Amino acid sequence: MPDMRAFTYRGNPAHVIFGQGSLSRLGEAIAMVGGTRALLLSTPQQARQAAKACAGASAIVAHYDGATMHTPTDVTALALEVVQANGADCLVAFGGGSTIGLAKALALRTDLPQVAIPTTYAGSEMTPVLGQTENGVKTTLSSSKVLPELVLYDVDLTLGLPAAMSGTSGINAIAHAVEGLYARDTNPIMQMMAGAGIKALAGALPKIAANPGDGEARSDALYGAWLCGAVLGAVGMALHHKLCHALGGSFNLPHAETHAIVLPHAWAYNAPAVPQAAAALKTALGTEDPARALFELGRAVGAPSGLKALGMPEAGIDKAADIAVANPYWNPRAIERGAIRELIARAWSGLPPETAGA
Ligand code: NAD
Repeated sequence: MPDMRAFTYRGNPAHVIFGQGSLSRLGEAIAMVGGTRALLLSTPQQARQAAKACAGASAIVAHYDGATMHTPTDVTALALEVVQANGADCLVAFGGGSTIGLAKALALRTDLPQVAIPTTYAGSEMTPVLGQTENGVKTTLSSSKVLPELVLYDVDLTLGLPAAMSGTSGINAIAHAVEGLYARDTNPIMQMMAGAGIKALAGALPKIAANPGDGEARSDALYGAWLCGAVLGAVGMALHHKLCHALGGSFNLPHAETHAIVLPHAWAYNAPAVPQAAAALKTALGTEDPARALFELGRAVGAPSGLKALGMPEAGIDKAADIAVANPYWNPRAIERGAIRELIARAWSGLPPETAGA
């Protein structure tokens, strides 16, 4: 009889400081990673917020505010010049996955230590994964060099995250944990973290949609985002992430919104093949029908209703199905073109997932 309990567990090294007001420990955090001259990184949109929030850390000697989506290598090259011009020995990333991606790209090239201060729920700060774009082509790599040395989670920094972005970014985080439940290399620690992360976020996101200033719900969501990010960093992803990657890349669709739309459908596809994960997801969401609950969560947080609403052309359904079957990857259920096409078509139209009580 095969041992159903057999697993391998390998955790990523993590130093996490979580709590309201933890940003006041930024100076200490920089010193803990060995920094004396830190470069602050942000997007242009968050330049003022980052400069104000980090003003108390005297070790920050410069601020580069050119971080942008998809980590283009030419932006990294410009930021690298700022690192060198200022003799920086530490990177402080203040923002979402885009800014954290820039810090990772710099760490890959310089081996400088990073302090990450996430302001969304995307989870990149907990992963050794970096996606970069060169000449419009995005490639992904995994290296311990890019995993941030220290992460400061301060709920106060997320209070201003717009309601719509909070919802889709939160469902993006849930998606990491859902796939973590059934990952080929999953293990009991990641399953516990995934279940707790999904529960915290699914409970918090509708409250945030109703009242973006709800501090308790914001704290629950950030806690969930940490757990889900850790799962993303530790185990392999499957159909849902591959589909979102293909859709995003082929039709230039926004990252978090695409995840929020596709997740209920990808789950409904895989659910019959993963009974243990289904039981865990039912418990985490407090429902007998997780696919429907994930779909309704999207509605509750005001996520766009379908890929059509994101601007994907209808002709793209077949193209996306072709891409999904053309590049084989591990998935708990075999990738069947007909069913995948149907999944994408439903996600495109904004229909609920096809489910047998999944
Ligand atoms: P983002 O970092 O692109 O942020 C979107 C916009 O919101 C930016 O203008 C940003 O400045 C702004 N913003 C962020 N936080 C804010 C706040 N609290 N208040 C006001 N505005 C705020 O969005 P994201 O969803 O965090 O990151 C998406 C990117 O991260 C994608 O490129 C994705 O591929 C990548 N990502 C990578 C990993 C990984 O492990 N490598 C994991 C998750 C996401």
